[in-house]
Amino acid sequence: MAIVAIDGPAGSGKSTTARLLAARLGFLYLDTGAIYRAVTLRALEAGLPMTAEAEIAQLAATLPLRFVAGGDETGRQRVFLGERDVSEALRSMEVNRRVSEVAAIAAVRGHLVEAQRRIGRGGNHVVEGRDIGTVVFPDAEVKIFLVADLECRAARRLAEMRARGDRETTLAAVRASLAARDRLDGARAVGPLKKAEDAIEIDTSRLTITEQVERIMGFCERLVVKAPQSHVENRPR
Ligand code: C5P
Repeated sequence: MAIVAIDGPAGSGKSTTARLLAARLGFLYLDTGAIYRAVTLRALEAGLPMTAEAEIAQLAATLPLRFVAGGDETGRQRVFLGERDVSEALRSMEVNRRVSEVAAIAAVRGHLVEAQRRIGRGGNHVVEGRDIGTVVFPDAEVKIFLVADLECRAARRLAEMRARGDRETTLAAVRASLAARDRLDGARAVGPLKKAEDAIEIDTSRLTITEQVERIMGFCERLVVKAPQSHVENRPR
């Protein structure tokens, strides 16, 4: 099974690029940020302080999470916790604010890294996150590290929020939230945001999504040939 790992900070274009790339390659898509967000949402709804590490790790160990393909051409997925569609709730400012604290808990990462490996090796996947090329799949067939300047990432994130109907959040608030997450994600002891030595770095600040996908496709050509057939036909002579 082949893995394409896409890491980088929030707003660097990982999600859109990974989704479109997966569709082009005929691979499945795994958004590992959504898994950390789901644990955070459960912790917030349970009223747990972010210092309750053992309880939050227990939530991570028993996460009833399901990804369901949305069926549109973008490959956008819906995320379910049990029977509840939490796709929108996972993107709230409150989850944004707290997720990096949850993601810094070593026991949480232990459970979630294991779950990601189990899912990822179950089929050809494009996997996006922070530690995919370094920790989760250090043997990934292709490793990409996306970067973009903060101003550009904040503008993209704000546009996404506006598109979802958020009229209140300001550019300054989004910029501050991204910068805070960058700091926490880069500084944590376990699985920090870091470029793998053998990853290909791409600065997306001045690239369109189409250009990003095309550039990465160039590094994935060999996988298309190597990927196993979806079925093997047994033709009698
Ligand atoms: O990618 P997204 O912005 O949804 O990720 C939300 C948060 O989840 C990140 O800021 C980071 O704290 C955490 N995360 C992580 N490791 C990953 C993916 C996400 O720590 N592989």
